[in-house]
Amino acid sequence: MLASNALPIIDQALPPALKPAVDPSSLTHRDLLEGPFWQSIPAYREVDEATFLDHKWQAKKTITRPDKLLKALQELASDEFIKDVEAGFQRAPMAVRISPYLLSLIDWKDPGNDPLRIQFLPMGSRFLPDHPKLGLDSLGEQADAPTAGLTHRYRDKALFLAIDTCPVYCRFCTRSYAVGMNTNEVEKVSLKANSGRWDQAFEYIASRPELEDIVISGGDSFNLRADWVREIGTRLLNMSNIRRIRFASKGLAVMPQKVLTDDAWFSALIDIHQLGRQLGKEVCFHTHFNHANEITEISRRAIQRLFSEGITVRNQSVLIRGVNDTVESMSQLVKRLSYINVHPYYVYIHDLVKGGEDMRTTLQTALNLEKHIRGLTAGFNTPTFVVDAPGGGGKRSAHSYESYDRETGVSRWQAPSVKPGHDFFYFDPIDQLSEEQQARWLDPHEQQKMLDELRDISR
Ligand SMILES: *Cc1c(COP(=O)(O)O)cnc(C)c1O
Ligand code: SF4
Repeated sequence: MLASNALPIIDQALPPALKPAVDPSSLTHRDLLEGPFWQSIPAYREVDEATFLDHKWQAKKTITRPDKLLKALQELASDEFIKDVEAGFQRAPMAVRISPYLLSLIDWKDPGNDPLRIQFLPMGSRFLPDHPKLGLDSLGEQADAPTAGLTHRYRDKALFLAIDTCPVYCRFCTRSYAVGMNTNEVEKVSLKANSGRWDQAFEYIASRPELEDIVISGGDSFNLRADWVREIGTRLLNMSNIRRIRFASKGLAVMPQKVLTDDAWFSALIDIHQLGRQLGKEVCFHTHFNHANEITEISRRAIQRLFSEGITVRNQSVLIRGVNDTVESMSQLVKRLSYINVHPYYVYIHDLVKGGEDMRTTLQTALNLEKHIRGLTAGFNTPTFVVDAPGGGGKRSAHSYESYDRETGVSRWQAPSVKPGHDFFYFDPIDQLSEEQQARWLDPHEQQKMLDELRDISR
């Protein structure tokens, strides 16, 4: 029997609205840039959509020299800015490579602070001294390589660097030891696409029964010819130990045109994915967007083409100062990726790379961001924030440090399943520390002391 003060049925059917109404126009992650946005760049004023979507045109018009940049921009960028970029090209460890698509997405009214400019166009005036603990191959990928360009660090998965070129060169590239052309600053290790080198890698992979998962990266899978995609995919999938492969490419973020107009390459990928399904093995795609401005209607269409074929696309971002290090910019990125069916998988704390000090953040920045991002959306669209432990410890969840001295910026890590018993250290960028601590970093004795002190600090 109902108690006399029971609520009338009608109130139970219509619970009070618990959340304030949301103005649909505030859901800006759904507003993808469309229309001929590239026509605001003087050099592309006359370029129609069919041309702009042609991946060959994008590749041909890609800018690799400051004078070409100047020519494309004409009155859009100041002389002062171009001179600054010229000085940046001189000092950068990475060759420069920027597609018309990327160039069109930069806000030329304020290039100094633009999140895409920061990633791809160095400015001489922004360089900070490298961290004293930096080594060129900071992740120790070469030390864990049984054959050239194959890193076998974790037990059941390996990283195959099939090729050493990319459709863009990122200032923050971890593989600046190998990727791209030699620059004034760095003479590269050669990892060309070469079937002799590949044979050795495949032989090794087939000989290790514990290996189940291969990342095909580089360089960049976008730069693999269609027949190479087929060859690599078929050979790996036909090995009985291999259960999963992923093609890794920054290309979706910087040249989505390839997926839309390079039919030979696209059908190679689709066929390998089909072969995987027949064999009960996963073939997926990993990409690398760092800012919501990189995601346009063209990106959505490219990803939809993969999605409609049943290919899972996951995203790995790098946490970059001035790009995605605020709650607002990271939330927008995560929401926009989810909206176009890309799973935000990882956010990497910026590695210690040459010439990249101005782009790194503290570990604390990542911890704060993670707190805000978790709970924003579906769990499977919530990225894990990781530190790739310098010296070859592999990826560690940002929260799993053994100790972290926020004064000196040093954190200590362990990786029991990768290198048991070892300590690994990550270092916050020095310019973010107090003046007193910055001074300590100038003295090599103090540097060792800071590491020793940390061993005595618990979480
Ligand atoms: C990142 C990485 C992998 C893949 O790791 P996941 O956590 O599965 O994405 C494999 N090998 C190396 C050397 C890597 O750096
Ligand atoms: S696309 Fe990847 S491998 Fe190529 S330069 Fe950028 S970060 Fe490095």
